[in-house]
Parts: sequence; structure tokens; C-alpha cells
Amino acid sequence: MNILLPTSIVGSLPKPVWLAPPEKLWSPWKLEGDQLTEGKQDALRIALQEQLLAGVDIICDGEQTRQHFVTTFIEHLSGVDFENRKIVKIRNRYDASVPVVVDELARRKAVFVNDAKFLRQQTTKPIKWALPGPMTMVDTLYDDHYKSREKLAWEFAKVLNEEARELQAAGIDIIQFDEPAFNVFFDEVNDWGMAALERAIEGLHCKTAVHVCYGYGIKANNDWKKTLGSEWRQYEEIFPKIQKSDIDIVSLECHNSNVPLNLIELVRGKKVMVGAIDVASNRIETPEEVANTLRKTLEFVNVENLYPSTNCGMAPLSRNIARAKLSALSKGAEIIRNGFAI
Ligand SMILES: [Zn+2]
Repeated sequence: MNILLPTSIVGSLPKPVWLAPPEKLWSPWKLEGDQLTEGKQDALRIALQEQLLAGVDIICDGEQTRQHFVTTFIEHLSGVDFENRKIVKIRNRYDASVPVVVDELARRKAVFVNDAKFLRQQTTKPIKWALPGPMTMVDTLYDDHYKSREKLAWEFAKVLNEEARELQAAGIDIIQFDEPAFNVFFDEVNDWGMAALERAIEGLHCKTAVHVCYGYGIKANNDWKKTLGSEWRQYEEIFPKIQKSDIDIVSLECHNSNVPLNLIELVRGKKVMVGAIDVASNRIETPEEVANTLRKTLEFVNVENLYPSTNCGMAPLSRNIARAKLSALSKGAEIIRNGFAI
């Protein structure tokens, strides 16, 4: 990136109401067949336009073509039964109806590659594409075949790598792996989770990112955060391992969180996507608030490595609020950028 403080969102934006009812997760599609395909493409065009209008520098697809950031990917694999779902507890926090692994996993066709090609045709700006990370996938389904979280993560890493290589060939500049599960299962991260993620990025020459957060702004996550005390030190357990990895960018939650900012020092040398927008609140940040959050992190990350962003995806927010927050993000980054202008 040749621009200082390039802004981007973590991944998702709310969908238009004619595509899927807003403000909820796993919202069902309102269209089907060819109309759904066309509707998704139109939603992608809108997501792009809204980011451009807000002045966002690195474009995402807003996850307009997926029902959920994890299960949509899993549903495209063979070896998975997504009709006879089971209820599991996600990250020890909330129940969800998820697909079941019933046989050996394989990716027989691309999942998001056509969507990525479509978005690539619409803009010359850098594009970041989010994929679920192997450990978070393991935690978002029921395994009736491998009976080992580590083995299953390894299989996911292999298929994610196939998808990532094709996304890279489609012209994606940054591939981001979402690993909220990294903030919960520390021992497993250090034991096999990070190794599985490294397997997923094997052979890639585009930039790679890992996003580790405290979740969407839904009640189960907000209730969980209340139990974490006045200092959230989860990053301390996993950042040393990430620092040693080949991942280029670390995306973290920052604004309105109880994360001690000096923990960012643990990934010194990496590029850091600093969450300067709270996705768990409908209150719109002022540009000055965004700038203040970014300024505070400059003690722990070199300015050329600072990538202003959101704390997490904005799928559960209303569209008006998401738009206003996007705009605040770019205006806040602009304040800091101007301070560094020669
Ligand atoms: Zn997140």
C-alpha cells in the first residue's frame, strides 16, 4: 500500500432488505435461482459503492454473497451434510444450528472465486477477501467423521489453501482469515491452531491477515464480554505465536474494548488493522474519537504498519448506521494522516 493509514472494514456489511432481512445473523435469502445470483451481484455493487463513497481505501465484498462467514464456506464442501443440521454451542457461548461433517472433506468447486472475480472487475482499488480460519470452522460445526478437532482443522486448512490460491489468482490483494476462536482456545492455538493457519496460507504471495476479535455485537457476545473483567488480556496468550508466523497483518478489536493497548507491542513488525469502530453499539463515533484510538496505538505500531479498521463485521447493524460508521472511520484516519503530511 502506498497510502499512509489505508482504511478497510473487517468484512461484512448489512445486506439490502430485498436480499435478506437485515440486523440478524443467518438471515435467509429472499430470492432464489438466477434472481438470487443477480441480487447478490447487485448487493456487491452497492457494497463497493458505499465503501468508495465513504472513502475506504481497501475494498471488501461486504460478505454480500454469504449467509454467514463460516457456514456458507462449509456448505460448499463435500463430506458435509447441511440439511440435517445439529445444534452446537459456538465458542462456549451460544447455540447455533450448524452443518455436520459426515465424510472425508473435499472442495470440489470454488466457493467465492466467481464473486471475487466479479468484484475485481468493478474496481481497481486493492481488495481484501475474508475466509473463515480453520479453528473457527472446527468450532462452527458438528463433526461426525474425524472425531479430532486438530485433524479436522488440518483438513479445513487444506481446502482453505486451495480457495485462497484461486482468490489470489483472481486478483485479490489481501486474504484475511477470521479466527475469533483464537481468543477462546489458547492452548489449542499454540498447539495446532496457528500451525493449521500457516498451512492455509502456504504458497501464497499476496498479503495475508488474521482477524481475532471479541465477536459481532450480538447479545451472547456482549454478555460474555461482561464476564472478562476490566482488562482483556486474551491477545497476550496468542500474539507471540502470531508474531513468529508468516501472517502479514493482524486485525484486532480496540475501540471501546478493555484490551490493554500495550499488548499490540507483542506483534511489533506486523501490520496491524486497528479496530477503531465499535460494531456492538449504534452510536456513531466522531472522527476525533477514531483519531484518538488510532493515535493511542501509535506507541506500539509504526505508522506505516497502521491499518485503521472496524472491531469486527457490521452485518448485524442497520445500513444507515454502518454507512455513518464507515464515514467516521475514513475521516478519523484522515486526521492522523494529515498530522504526518510532509
Ligand atoms: Zn470479528
